[in-house]
Amino acid sequence: MSRTPRMLAGLVTGSALLATAACGSGSGSAQTSSQSSSSGADGRPAVVAAIYPVQWLSEQVGGPDAAVSVLTAPGVEPHDLELGPQQVAQLQDAALTVYVRGVQPAVDEAVTPETSFDAATAVTTLPAGEDAHAHEEGEEAHAGEGEEAHAGEGEEAHAGEAVDPHIWLDPSRLATVATKLGERLAGADPAHAQGYKDRAARTASTLTALDQEFAKGLGTCATRTMVTAHAAFGYLADRYKLQQVGIALDPEQEPSPARLAEVATAAKNAKVTTIFTEALVNPKVAEVLAGEVGAKTAVLDPLESKPSGDYLSAMRDNLKSLQTALGCTA
Ligand SMILES: [Zn+2]
Repeated sequence: MSRTPRMLAGLVTGSALLATAACGSGSGSAQTSSQSSSSGADGRPAVVAAIYPVQWLSEQVGGPDAAVSVLTAPGVEPHDLELGPQQVAQLQDAALTVYVRGVQPAVDEAVTPETSFDAATAVTTLPAGEDAHAHEEGEEAHAGEGEEAHAGEGEEAHAGEAVDPHIWLDPSRLATVATKLGERLAGADPAHAQGYKDRAARTASTLTALDQEFAKGLGTCATRTMVTAHAAFGYLADRYKLQQVGIALDPEQEPSPARLAEVATAAKNAKVTTIFTEALVNPKVAEVLAGEVGAKTAVLDPLESKPSGDYLSAMRDNLKSLQTALGCTA
């Protein structure tokens, strides 16, 4: 413990890199995806998805009846998204914007309630930060704090908000969102209501099956502590009774030497074998931390940007990574 802070002091420089890599590339570089058909010129309702997980969900539920486009280009860290004139027009022309409040302040400000669907309203939310999980076992009192946080607003990124927005990393919550999205699209495009509802039901059952794979796969593990690059996995931790230690609360936040020392101690105490990093975050901090505690690094994808496969394959890759890192026997 006494030597840890000194060992990690050298990381401060490295963590500045982390902040830059996480968010610097994100500013002002939103694009529409190639399958965008802007304002539904072909007669289909234009559905604009703010980030990848709800893009995937909108495509599953919208099927051939909706023209889905995405606001945040692949490979762009989404939290810092700024809206250019083209994105503002895209939002104004949308029959429905599907987003998660708290991820992208620019989107939160630009949407109107009549033409938007906030996926976070479909589920029970958790407070932001790793301590969220310390409250453990169905302490539902926090749902109330969530509403309060929305009312309070915050122009800082999601770290400043009291609600953790990363709901899509719990497949069971995303299944609930699928059902609600189906109802919302059915209301917006009544002529195709049955199609939306059928696809929503299919998507929900696919996600429920994925949830069961996770529950089974993470049922018996040598350790239940996961050290992650940023605290994106609170809902996954909540659902499968894991303990998340996020090196940074937010991808744009630079972990302090004190925080890094704290994480190193927690990692050693929990005998973690792996420090997780993510594709859009500079791995330097995780690598040095891993060296310090005698662990290796592996990627755990928070799905804030489009993966090489899709939501389902990336989540299965995450499950495999977690099973290896935590020593799970399924
Ligand atoms: Zn995040």
